Parts: sequence; C-alpha cells; structure tokens
Amino acid sequence: MHISLDKRSGGTCECCSTIPARFAYTVSPKKDDPQNQVALCDVCFADVEKLEQLDHWRCVEGSIWNPDPAVQALSYRIANQLKDKESWAQNLLDSVEIDEDIVSWATSNQSNQMIHFDAFGNTLENGDTVVLTQALDVKGTSFSAPKGTVVKKIRLVHDNPEHIEGKINEQTIVILTKFVKKN
Ligand SMILES: [Zn+2]
Repeated sequence: MHISLDKRSGGTCECCSTIPARFAYTVSPKKDDPQNQVALCDVCFADVEKLEQLDHWRCVEGSIWNPDPAVQALSYRIANQLKDKESWAQNLLDSVEIDEDIVSWATSNQSNQMIHFDAFGNTLENGDTVVLTQALDVKGTSFSAPKGTVVKKIRLVHDNPEHIEGKINEQTIVILTKFVKKN
C-alpha cells in the first residue's frame, strides 16, 4: 500500500473500520493511484466484487460519508449494486447527496453504453433536469404528478434505456423517458 493511502486511512479499513487494512483497492476504471484507491481489510477485499456478505456491506452506510472521493465512489457502487436486494441500500442511495462526477465514477462499471433519449430525441445523462410532458400517475400512491412537473437530478436506469429514476414528492420513482423533456 502506498504511504499516502496508509496515512489517509490510518491503517484502518475505509469501508468497515476494521484493523488492519492491508489492501489497496483501485476503484475502476481509474488508474492505480492512491487517490483512486481505498484501503480495505481482508474481509472487504475478498468480497468487494462478489458482494456475498450482505450484512457486512451495511458498513457502507457509514463509509459513504467519508470525505474522500474514492471511498464515496466505492461505497456508492456497493449500495447501488445491492439496492434491488437490500432495502437499506436503496434508502442509503435516496438519502445521500453525492457529486455527479462521483456517481458517474461509481456506476461506470455498470453502464453498457445504453443511451437514454427524451421524447424529443435529446440524450439524457445522470444529473439532468427533466420536465414531464404529460401527467403521471404514480403507482401505489394517491398522488399524480401534473404535466410540467420538474424532476431534478435524474438517474439513468442502467439496464433499460426507456427508464429513468427521479424524485417526485420526496419519492424516487421510475419514469418512462418518452414522457419527459430535457430541461
Ligand atoms: Zn473492511
């Protein structure tokens, strides 16, 4: 492990706070450089790509608040990969405010070059603001969002180019791209 990473982490796993952290894990696709690395303990390092130890990974609920971008990116990536299985992971993603460039870094391992277009053929990106082009009934709730509702900071659904996610009335919902216009 590079001396600067050792110093930053204090020899403690930057995900789960276990001592000692013996591995420097590079958060892909960035190059091997201490600022792109996270100090990990044996347990985290062994499971960081498999994510089988579901309970263990609740540690990212803490590490996502780390001021270091690499730790934020890795924590976000882990929560994002577990969000369909674990409700705490979805709740965590809903409750944090992370810079868009870190979100892009965190989700870059999942984007398979699908392009999302709005109703007018404009390319949509993570973090865009869109406007609803027609009223939207939100399933499972009593409210509907009127045409013209502004949805900020959308997320692209990585495996479906017709879906984006956005917050309306504090709820994250899936919206069809054909019913939005990029703002
Ligand atoms: Zn750890």
